Amino acid sequence: MPHTELYDLLGVSTDASDAELKKAYRKKAMKYHPDRNPDAGEKFKEITQAYEVLSDAEKRKTYDRHGLDGLKEGRSEGPGGLFEHLFGMRRDTGPKKGEDTVQPFPVSLEDMYNGTTRKIALRKRVLCSDCNGEGGKHGKGKTCTSCDGHGIRVELRQLGIGMVQQVRRACDKCNGTGEMWDPKDLCKTCSGKKVMQDRKILEVHIDKGMRDGQKITFRGEGDQEPGIEPGDVVLVLRAKDHPVFERRGRDLIMKKKIGLTEALCGLDLTLKHLDGRMLHVKCPPGEVIAPDSVKVIKEEGFPEHRRIFDKGDLFVVFDVDFTMPEELRTPEHLKKLEALLPPREKVDIPSDAEEVVLQEPDPNRRIGEAGPGERQAYDEDDDEGHHAGPGVQCASQ
Ligand SMILES: [Zn+2]
Ligand SMILES: [Zn+2]
Repeated sequence: MPHTELYDLLGVSTDASDAELKKAYRKKAMKYHPDRNPDAGEKFKEITQAYEVLSDAEKRKTYDRHGLDGLKEGRSEGPGGLFEHLFGMRRDTGPKKGEDTVQPFPVSLEDMYNGTTRKIALRKRVLCSDCNGEGGKHGKGKTCTSCDGHGIRVELRQLGIGMVQQVRRACDKCNGTGEMWDPKDLCKTCSGKKVMQDRKILEVHIDKGMRDGQKITFRGEGDQEPGIEPGDVVLVLRAKDHPVFERRGRDLIMKKKIGLTEALCGLDLTLKHLDGRMLHVKCPPGEVIAPDSVKVIKEEGFPEHRRIFDKGDLFVVFDVDFTMPEELRTPEHLKKLEALLPPREKVDIPSDAEEVVLQEPDPNRRIGEAGPGERQAYDEDDDEGHHAGPGVQCASQ
């Protein structure tokens, strides 16, 4: 059975396009606007709310699938007022839902790549098992006279002349439960508090390919309270930094340090992947790897969540280490090496060229910092400024 109430309100078919919905809403809204049609009652509000749902793709999908109930259940934020005066449903009937407990959950890149199951201990409030959350012997509880059963008391506090602050606090006679018990009926386990602390082990399934920021929800595992539907426990995955790999969506990036020989004379090395596999990488001699050059290994990136055979790529950024061993830096070796390398570029040195010295920079010297002369000049300016003041005054007098 398709859900049509909202479409009927606007007078469109269930496959109406966004443009058709908008047009229909405009027409109806003009007709029923309270300024033009004060007798139409709630009609304007109803069509507005119907349009609010249907013009939102997400809400419209929820409504098409589950009807107004779907919107009411909080799958999507529904227009509360609409249910109340149109269909006699009230959003606030049924048990109230407790707050969700949201907490970050750090995960290694290995765990997100391979998938794993982790156990966590959850401390939470549960209904007392001895009295089923009633606080004492069934049916023997009496309404607290101090708070009229509300569990809270509103007190007025004088702040100043004509100023009063309302303070709500838990009733101390009934511990905020709203009920009083004869000592013989009171639950000994929870002393009438109806709840107790519990520890629960949750199994967290981290699937292959899950992402940073992805949520894992444990429905109804939040704190329990009498008359309230417990909220959810929501874990938000937080990817820990990895010493070798960096993840970008479905791709992986790794930095690999290689020596001059590998860079120039052919590559033959292994890379350890996140699942422990060794990847054998080869580059034929003659293929030179330049510093910071990037190569890609196809389909060795991250698997997609729920489509683990769809994998991204692994990008390898090469860091070439130019260090040359001391024993190779002898004139004979260097001559041999130079004979093998491309010839030097010819340089014409003009006779008036000045010979300068190339030195290692001082690590404490920041590039762009003010020189000692510059600082001195500034100080002198400052001094002159002080002297200039009275001097000008003298001249004008
Ligand atoms: Zn009370
Ligand atoms: Zn109890």
